[in-house]
Amino acid sequence: AAAAAHHAPVHKTILLGDSGVGKTSLLVQFDTGMFKAGTFSATVGIGFTSKIVTVDEEMVKLQIWDTAGQERFRSVTHAYYRDAHALLLLYDVTNKTSFDNIRAWLGEIREYAQDDVVILLLGNKADCENRKIRREEGERLAREYNVIFLETSAKSGLNVDLAFTAVARGLLARS
Ligand code: GDP
Ligand code: MG
Repeated sequence: AAAAAHHAPVHKTILLGDSGVGKTSLLVQFDTGMFKAGTFSATVGIGFTSKIVTVDEEMVKLQIWDTAGQERFRSVTHAYYRDAHALLLLYDVTNKTSFDNIRAWLGEIREYAQDDVVILLLGNKADCENRKIRREEGERLAREYNVIFLETSAKSGLNVDLAFTAVARGLLARS
């Protein structure tokens, strides 16, 4: 099994979405199973975590890149999308602006990413009581753009593993 994993291709996966939606928290939760309260520095540079996700006894290697939200305004982002195999696009269910900005993000993705990139739309902070965006609104937007949708919580861990399993399934389906 270890040998098979060694030879499996690595799939570049990128977390995108406005600053503060929980990209770093989601990756930390997936990587360590823990939630660290308080904002991670928004300016912390781009880093990645390597993980193997097993789907139907197939191992899928993910190299998951975290970004700071404001990087969308820099042209470096476009080169950065171009070789991505999967994108996790997050909004915060308590922040309407982050949801409204999803259309702009999807526009950029359509323009710069590969045509067969696997895209997941994630409504994060689903644990919060003060939500502004109903699940149905997220589902509707995802249907319109033909992308996979889940609500997640980096805090409780809700659907975090499932999101990365969905990425792996999408990658397997495409190859
Ligand atoms: P990023 O800028 O997208 O990387 O967002 P961060 O991961 O730094 O998170 C921004 C803030 O939201 C921090 O205070 C986190 O603790 C908080 N946060 C992130 N995800 C969740 C979540 O699922 N639920 C709750 N309640 N807070 C979250
Ligand atoms: Mg961050």
